Amino acid sequence: MDKNKYFRRIPKVDLLIERPEVQELLARYDYDVVVEAIRDCTEELRALIADGGREDEIEARLADLIPAIRGKVESVYELTMRPVINGTGTILHTNLGRAPISAEHVQRLEEIVTGYSNLEYDLAAGQRGERYSHFEDLLCRVTGAEAAIAVNNNAAAVLLILSTLAKGGEVPVSRGELVEIGGKFRIPDVMEQSGATLVEVGTTNKTHFSDYENAITEQTTALLKVHTSNYRIVGFTESVPASELSELAARHNLPLIEDLGSGVLIDLSKYGITYEPTVQASLQNGASVVSFSGDKLLGGPQAGIVVGKKEYISRMKKNPLMRAIRIDKFTAAELELTLHEYLNEENAVKKIPVLRMMTMPWEEIDRKARRLKAALRRANVDAEVTLCTCESQIGGGSLPLERLKSSGLLIKSARLSTPELERRLRELPTPVIARVMDDHILLDMRTVAEDRLRLLTEELKNVLGEGTR
Ligand SMILES: *Cc1c(COP(=O)(O)O)cnc(C)c1O
Repeated sequence: MDKNKYFRRIPKVDLLIERPEVQELLARYDYDVVVEAIRDCTEELRALIADGGREDEIEARLADLIPAIRGKVESVYELTMRPVINGTGTILHTNLGRAPISAEHVQRLEEIVTGYSNLEYDLAAGQRGERYSHFEDLLCRVTGAEAAIAVNNNAAAVLLILSTLAKGGEVPVSRGELVEIGGKFRIPDVMEQSGATLVEVGTTNKTHFSDYENAITEQTTALLKVHTSNYRIVGFTESVPASELSELAARHNLPLIEDLGSGVLIDLSKYGITYEPTVQASLQNGASVVSFSGDKLLGGPQAGIVVGKKEYISRMKKNPLMRAIRIDKFTAAELELTLHEYLNEENAVKKIPVLRMMTMPWEEIDRKARRLKAALRRANVDAEVTLCTCESQIGGGSLPLERLKSSGLLIKSARLSTPELERRLRELPTPVIARVMDDHILLDMRTVAEDRLRLLTEELKNVLGEGTR
């Protein structure tokens, strides 16, 4: 292959700039971005020739130089964070942003964050206030706690609690509760970061009251109980309930810390879902401080909420770490709005998207599935589309064994293999994230909002194409 012949055919940068197609790009986009794209594309081509690439490939790349440049420029300007349609049925999908927040809150949020607000300004006193003040009373009212704060996430909350209450001392934790939660949150590591020393007690499956009792020394600064959110040990097991641990803690004048993980505020068993310990119950059982996530079963913004005894919360507010993990105005505003919904439980179940999806009657999900199926049939898509009963999961490390009966569509394209269809769905302008089951695409309709049905129909029509019937 005559490499020089090909090198000579790569247009010079200044000549490329003169091309009308590139002039068009320059009219719309920044000069430096366009020139950088030209350089990148021509250099890639040069490298391909130098490496002795196949001649037909070099020819194709030479012919496609302008579209390649345009593609590179456009990708710089493309926003990468976008809405997706969640067809997985997993309600708290950590990769998909966990809890969606209520559309009704958005107008209020917009008013607050696009201008100034009293985030940290006490309007009555005309002086500096606290960002927690906007939701502290609500949290106390709903959970029965004396005081409350919120930080960036529950991982930060646990770190703050331990670093404030247990630093420099020993903290007994059951071996059955030394969990790892997704994204590198591990109890032993957090403990180490906080400056407290972990004292393992009991065994993986059984920890007795006496194990804690025997572990308490002069150096003990707190007792910690961790909810094993994302896994369950079943069979020959025993753990010590908070109600008993709190007696032991009180006897030794120690705080009992409970990391609840999900932190539900309502009794889910009323809605046919397995009972999950509520924040209220944890406090009633004698936990001194309880921490939980804002964007798991609570259904609010990403946050780590701490509720409990005023003396402990006041000390946390003064911890210098607090400044590094404090919440911003989006979170403060959305936490207030979310907790406000909980003033009335019935209202919360209706208004908070996570709770709404969890408690959605099967008939309602099935109606959505039937509507989508009918729309696809009318569009005569080139695919086999069938209704199916499926199972949704809660996700987010909450209630890992829970399966909610749901309804969905199984789709098999006449033209594309299932892996190819799955990829095409992900690459749509509003990507559709689906499950693959038995060589079919499964769309669980529990997590597809009613107002996305039309868009989903249009996108599926485009990807599946029209059939011949
Ligand atoms: C999810 C979870 C965490 C971490 O919470 P984030 O809000 O994701 O930081 C910590 N502890 C437990 C028990 C959890 O379930």
